[in-house]
Amino acid sequence: MLSANPDIQLQNVSKSFGSLRVLNDVSLAINKGETTIIMGPSGCGKSTLLRCLNGLAVVDSGKVLIEGNDITQPGTDLTALRSKVGMVFQQFNLFPHLTVLENITLAPTKVRGISEKDAQETAMSLLTRIGIPDKANAWPDQLSGGQKQRVAIARCLAMQPSILLLDEPTSALDPLMASEVMDLVKKLADEGLTIVLVSHNIRFAERAGHKLVFLEEGKIVEEGPPKQLLQSASSPQVQKYLAALG
Ligand code: ADP
Ligand code: MG
Repeated sequence: MLSANPDIQLQNVSKSFGSLRVLNDVSLAINKGETTIIMGPSGCGKSTLLRCLNGLAVVDSGKVLIEGNDITQPGTDLTALRSKVGMVFQQFNLFPHLTVLENITLAPTKVRGISEKDAQETAMSLLTRIGIPDKANAWPDQLSGGQKQRVAIARCLAMQPSILLLDEPTSALDPLMASEVMDLVKKLADEGLTIVLVSHNIRFAERAGHKLVFLEEGKIVEEGPPKQLLQSASSPQVQKYLAALG
């Protein structure tokens, strides 16, 4: 379903690093509450595209609209933007010297000015939601990879984002741990969070994705509803990619 006001819109976005053009005139609209999966070979610009959505990467030309606001304009409040647009990375990036609970309460107390007590209550309810309330006082290195990634997601959720970006969140995980994380992402998708996920997981794309986007050398080569696209993708790049996934 198309909405008149997409949650996220890229308009003719280009971005280079030196002479390397990493995003080449990318236009994309993502509706509120939808889950979009970005696929494509290594180095095609997937992470850069995600990073443009929360201001971690600055575009050279084009516009990035988040809830209708152009975040490429000078004067954009990046702290507010990053609360609204949460991001989870492949390597969980938990603070190793903070407990699980402290990892989750840090930003709400320091950035949002929420009281320690309220932040802890929210953190505990998030830990219950991700199934590990008993790990509140554990250190990150006492957790499994799947637990770490779920805590990283909970840490984002503590800031009450309306958009969640996930950059290959299961690439460092074994299949069982990966499925724990993807079950959580599916739950969040079902609850109506707008999600942009970089992933090579075709099954997840079919099960939970509203839109699948294939990038190749910084350009969108295919875009559409996952099931349909996976069956009908005609571009040779996408066929090669899908054949390699098996
Ligand atoms: P993907 O996530 O699809 O693997 P990336 O967006 O990470 O691709 O990178 C796309 C290309 O841009 C790669 O060739 C990468 O080496 C290059 N690149 C990414 N970030 C930087 C950077 N900060 N400086 C220079 N080159 C970069
Ligand atoms: Mg990447």
